[in-house]
Amino acid sequence: MPGFEIFGEEEKKEILDVLDTGVLFRYEFGAQRKGVYKVLEFEKQFAAYCGTSYGQAVTSGTVALKVAMAALGIGPGDEVITQGFTFVATWEAILDLGAIPVFTEVDATLNMDPVDLEKKITAKTRCIIPVHMLGAQARIQEIVAIAKRHDIPVLEDTAQAAGARINGRHLGTFGTCGTFSFDAVKTMTTGEGGMIITADEELWRTMSEYHDHGHDHVVNPGARGGEGRRFIGFNYRMMELQGAIGLAQLAKLDSMIEAQKKTKAALKEAAASIPGLKFRELVDEAGDSATFCCFILESREQCLRVNKVLTENKAGAINFGENSWHFYPRWEHLLAGSTVAQNGWPFLEPGGKRRLIYDPELLPASADLISRTLVYPVPIKMSEERLVEMTTALRQAAKA
Ligand SMILES: *Cc1c(COP(=O)(O)O)cnc(C)c1O
Repeated sequence: MPGFEIFGEEEKKEILDVLDTGVLFRYEFGAQRKGVYKVLEFEKQFAAYCGTSYGQAVTSGTVALKVAMAALGIGPGDEVITQGFTFVATWEAILDLGAIPVFTEVDATLNMDPVDLEKKITAKTRCIIPVHMLGAQARIQEIVAIAKRHDIPVLEDTAQAAGARINGRHLGTFGTCGTFSFDAVKTMTTGEGGMIITADEELWRTMSEYHDHGHDHVVNPGARGGEGRRFIGFNYRMMELQGAIGLAQLAKLDSMIEAQKKTKAALKEAAASIPGLKFRELVDEAGDSATFCCFILESREQCLRVNKVLTENKAGAINFGENSWHFYPRWEHLLAGSTVAQNGWPFLEPGGKRRLIYDPELLPASADLISRTLVYPVPIKMSEERLVEMTTALRQAAKA
C-alpha cells in the first residue's frame, strides 16, 4: 500500500470514459451518459469480488461506518462496542450518531479480544464493530458467534484490509455488513471514498436511500424527482471519477496483495532472528493482505532498543503507542471530551451534565501489547536495494 503507487493507463482510461460524457453525477443524465455508470459498476464489481450481493459506495470510510450504523437503526444512547486500537474514524462515526463508543482490549491478533468483548456487552449494546487493523483478520468467527448469542449485529470495519480473507472468505462478509475505505493511503484508493457491503437487500436499500437524502431509488439508478421518501437522509454520494478509479484499482487488488506478501515474507525472515520476537498472530496467514508487518517484542525496553538500531540503520519502525491517531490512551480529545458544540454534545447532555467519561487506564492489556509492538507498512513496490537495507537493519537489530 498505498494503491497510488501503481496508478497507470488503466486508471486514466476509466477516468477518460467519464470525462468523455461530462456526467460526474452517479444518478440521472440518462441521455448524456452513454451508458457509463462507474459508481454503480464499481459497487457491483466490489460486492462480487468479495463474494456478496450488495455494495453501497459513499464518500469515505468514515461515512461508510456512519451510513451502515444509521441503516442498522443506531441512535442516541445506544452503546456500540469497538476496539481501543483503531483509527479515530471508527468511534467518530459512533459519536456522530449520538451513540456511545465502548472500547475493548486487543489481543495478540492486534484486534478485538473476544473475551473482553463478552464482558463489555450490556442491555444497551446495539452493534459490535471489530476492526481488521493493519491488513489482517480479527477473530471474526468467534466475535460473530458471541454477537449471535446476544442478537447484536456485527459491522466489520475493513478499512485497512480490503482483499483479506479467512479460508478464502472475504473479510467484511462475516458480519451483517462490512465497511471499506479508499482514502489516499489505503491498499486500493480512489483518493477519498468508501464502500459498505452486505448480503441483506433491505439493509442495502436503507443505506442507499439514506446516503442520498432519503430518495427511495425505486429504480436504481432511476429518474429523480418522482421518488418518494421513507425517512430523512443526507448526502454522502460518491462521484463518477472516484468510481472510475475504483474499478481500475479493484482489478489490481489481488496483484497488489501478492506483491506485498513477497516483501513481507522477506522482512519476516530477517526479523525472526531478533531474540524473543513474536509475530502478530494471524487467524489465516494465507488470507493476510500483507499491508503491514507487525512484530511484538518481549518488553518496552527491548522494543525501544531494537527500534533505535533500526532507526540508525534507516529502517525505523512505527510504534503505535507513540502515534496519536490509532490508540486509545493517545486520543486526548476523546479523553478530555473536546467538541466544537457549544453545549458540549456529545460529551455533555443538553442540560450540561457529563454524559461520557473515558478513563485513560481503561485498557491495560492493550497498552502493554502496543507499547512493545513495531510495525512496518509494506509498499507494493520496493526496490531490491531498499529491501536489502531493511533486512540488513533487522539483522543488525538482532544483535541489539
Ligand atoms: C482509514 C480508516 C477509516 C476511515 O476511512 P476514511 O476513508 O479515511 O474516512 C476507518 N477505519 C479505519 C480502521 C481506517 O483505517
